[in-house]
Amino acid sequence: MRSITHFIHGAAASSTGGRASDVLDPSTGAVQAQVHLGDAALLDQAIKSAKKAQPDWAAVNPQRRARVLFRYKELIEAHMDELAALLSSEHGKVIADAKGDVQRGLEVVEFACGIPHLLKGDYTQGAGPGIDVYSMRQPLGIVAGITPFNFPAMIPLWMGAMAIACGNAFILKPSERDPSVPVRLAELALEAGLPEGIFNVVHGDKVMVDAILDHPDIKAVSFVGSSDIANYVYQRAAANGKRAQCMGGAKNHGIILPDADMDQAVADIVGAAYGSAGERCMALPVVTPVGEATAQAFREKLVAAIETLRPGIPSDPQAQYGPLVTAQHKARVENYIQMAADEGAEIVVDGRGFSLQGYEEGFYLAPTLIDRVTPQMKSYQDEIFGPVLQILRAETFEEALSYPSKHQYGNGVAIFTRNGDYARRFAADVEVGMVGINVPIPVPVAYHSFGGWKRSGFGDLDQYGEDGVRFYTRTKKITQRWPSGGAVIDQSFVIPTMK
Ligand code: NAD
Repeated sequence: MRSITHFIHGAAASSTGGRASDVLDPSTGAVQAQVHLGDAALLDQAIKSAKKAQPDWAAVNPQRRARVLFRYKELIEAHMDELAALLSSEHGKVIADAKGDVQRGLEVVEFACGIPHLLKGDYTQGAGPGIDVYSMRQPLGIVAGITPFNFPAMIPLWMGAMAIACGNAFILKPSERDPSVPVRLAELALEAGLPEGIFNVVHGDKVMVDAILDHPDIKAVSFVGSSDIANYVYQRAAANGKRAQCMGGAKNHGIILPDADMDQAVADIVGAAYGSAGERCMALPVVTPVGEATAQAFREKLVAAIETLRPGIPSDPQAQYGPLVTAQHKARVENYIQMAADEGAEIVVDGRGFSLQGYEEGFYLAPTLIDRVTPQMKSYQDEIFGPVLQILRAETFEEALSYPSKHQYGNGVAIFTRNGDYARRFAADVEVGMVGINVPIPVPVAYHSFGGWKRSGFGDLDQYGEDGVRFYTRTKKITQRWPSGGAVIDQSFVIPTMK
């Protein structure tokens, strides 16, 4: 049985406690490896390594740090097929989608290659008589990232590329369900020329997360995962005096106005709802058509589109999506389908009971469509995180706008319309962090920043982009003057002003 170890100071490291967790192949249901689960003692090793390496790394000028990132980008590109295959084997997403996972992380590495420009400070000459004011951005020291199972390449790179470019040492605690790609990413960074100890990977569960949150040498924690854990991490990190940005769960709505290009909207929504088996924080699991005629037209076209979908193994190029991540998660999604039925919603297409020939033990679930959902239903209020699309009908634009705005989650939302006036009002007024206008999955590109509102994001700075630079640095503000000598030019007992 393959054993997945920690990666500390440029080498594999085993933990002593003997705790381990099964890593499954979701396509077959078989256990394919065991990942070591570390504890506070193991974390101490990673901290020791990071402490040794970080001051020298911070002293490397930003242009030379960027050169390492350029090489890192090339290596990730060269290893794309290998990374995608490894990712799919533990996550279950289809190969093309796994490449997208790596690519979206790679784009943050590309952005981080511009770090010399991003770290330039501000300067004001002559802020007062003979006085200049300037600022500098300095790394925090040692920082940590805690990541979810659903994007095992992209999310570690959102955090790691930015943290490292800014001159920090980065400790990654990836999901224990698909831990191999994060380790490969750390190995490739070493090969690109990153010093040992600047990118360490420690595996684990709550025990390791708590050790990270309580360690006084870790200055900032970036978390992505479900909302209850995000809130917990945010509170415990803040109570320990750390910076924290904690992204949580989601329930993204797609609003369809009567004038939308319906064929395009259906094509977009099917991909966004069922792609990656719905296991994306930017999936589109709720559709709100406005008006009875819109709902009817949408439902008819959608049912026809669903009939053409086929879950399959990751290497099947005909499959639109793969299995769910674990048997427990599949059971949880199936429970939500039953809950929706019990709550009085209409199960239009039921994906339960699907079995893939030759892969009967895999965690597959066929696409499910549920209509006549209401805001009072728990199956609507909760994140389901599976290939399940719910229709919540609205009579007016205002009613449709109110649903994503009032929902506990506020990650992403999309509106489908040809009317610029409605689209503009929607973008301005909706209480959600990321908005798509005729774009179903509005994940901002690497030079903007990513983050949701309400229970989708705790903390104030978003992931990557300029917010990433702000999160992983602290600014120092310098006010200087250089007296010419001779007579004392002033003395004051009142607060200095520049008058
Ligand atoms: P999760 O919350 O179960 O796990 C996330 C991380 O927290 C993992 O590293 C895990 O080991 C750790 N963890 C789990 N239980 C813990 C506990 N009790 N105490 C401390 N740490 C714990 O999330 P997941 O199932 O891996 O990922 C899916 C969730 O992540 C979904 O809710 C999804 O919406 C969300 N997500 C959000 C974003 C975003 O940017 N908002 C992006 C991707 C995923």
